[in-house]
Amino acid sequence: MTSLPLISVDPDARGRRPAMPPCHLADLDLPGRQALVTELGEPAFRAKQVSNHYFGRLVRDPAQMTDLPAATRERLAGTLLPTLLTPVRELACDDGATRKALWRLHDGSLVESVLMGYPDRVTVCISSQAGCGMACPFCATGQAGLTRNLSTAEIVDQAVYLAGVAASGAVAGSPPRLSHVVFMGMGEPLANYSRVVAAIRRLVAPAPEGLGLSQRHITVSTVGLVPAIRRLASEDLSVTLALSLHAPDDELRDELVPVNQRWKVSEVLDAAWDYADTTGRRVSIEYAMIKDVNDQPWRADLLGRLLAGKLAHVNLIPLNPTPGSRWDASPKPVEREFVRRLRDAGVSTTVRDTRGREIDGACGQLAAAEDRDSDPRAATA
Ligand code: SAH
Repeated sequence: MTSLPLISVDPDARGRRPAMPPCHLADLDLPGRQALVTELGEPAFRAKQVSNHYFGRLVRDPAQMTDLPAATRERLAGTLLPTLLTPVRELACDDGATRKALWRLHDGSLVESVLMGYPDRVTVCISSQAGCGMACPFCATGQAGLTRNLSTAEIVDQAVYLAGVAASGAVAGSPPRLSHVVFMGMGEPLANYSRVVAAIRRLVAPAPEGLGLSQRHITVSTVGLVPAIRRLASEDLSVTLALSLHAPDDELRDELVPVNQRWKVSEVLDAAWDYADTTGRRVSIEYAMIKDVNDQPWRADLLGRLLAGKLAHVNLIPLNPTPGSRWDASPKPVEREFVRRLRDAGVSTTVRDTRGREIDGACGQLAAAEDRDSDPRAATA
């Protein structure tokens, strides 16, 4: 069995502190912002005004903050809203209903987010780390390793920025208001625990403190860091937990999701059921269908036995192609048989509509390469 350097991948824990970005209002709760504004010699209520522009109106240009005195506008906005994400490229597909944004961070790291419009909702898929240390062999992000954790505001700003894109009417056929956030972009959210939880608090706090999303419309997806799942259950939050299971048996899961070498299938499922009990939220079990690897009927039956009677829903994800991968998606008849067996076991199961494949924006394809500037699919820069 291989050793597990991948468990201690939090770069902050290695003594070499990566350069974190400047503090931004989304790093702070409202009292924290008021304290900062007071330090600047401004009245505390200015914190609420700037917060209202950023979270309530999705405005970040100081020139549009006309309720602030012209003399202090630039200084206030410059301090509270430093630029965290510089758009490098935006790719669109599905007639504009799916858009992948590539951002450069202050230290040159690259991360991606995906905006997905549906007739009844708008979802953004956001990154929690630059790269990822979990090393799942079928995921593009996992191949390059971890660069660093994102700050709370770097996480939140992806959602706020893309909420602004949606509000501008860019996603035809969808409501203009961002409604759902999934932590399914780059990184392992629970390996950047405190910043991710703070980001969730900003996303759900009502404006002007936050974006005012419903907790039940936020999904945190994890490889299964058991202590962190238990800690999340103890927060006063009821976000949806998605567990990237991908195999019902330890032998295969040790390979597909290497962190399984530390926390086994039975342990991670126990933590998931405790999460469901505490929060009342159904756990989403993610399972990428990989041809001849994890798609056998006996694995469907075993998965069915593990999940029957539990507060769980299975999301099967047709494997998305990643560079150099030796694996393919399961054929449709195999997928259908897998679904049938799970449903026969009484387990609610759907196959995920994988958005954004053509722009490498689908699950597991986010790798933040900047080498395709000549790509004819580039929509805006
Ligand atoms: N680190 C977290 C969140 C990011 S990935 C996690 O693993 O849950 C979001 C989902 O996409 C996970 O379920 C992940 O396992 C899945 N995924 C990764 N690579 C994929 C691929 N090539 N095809 C389909 N799904 C993939």
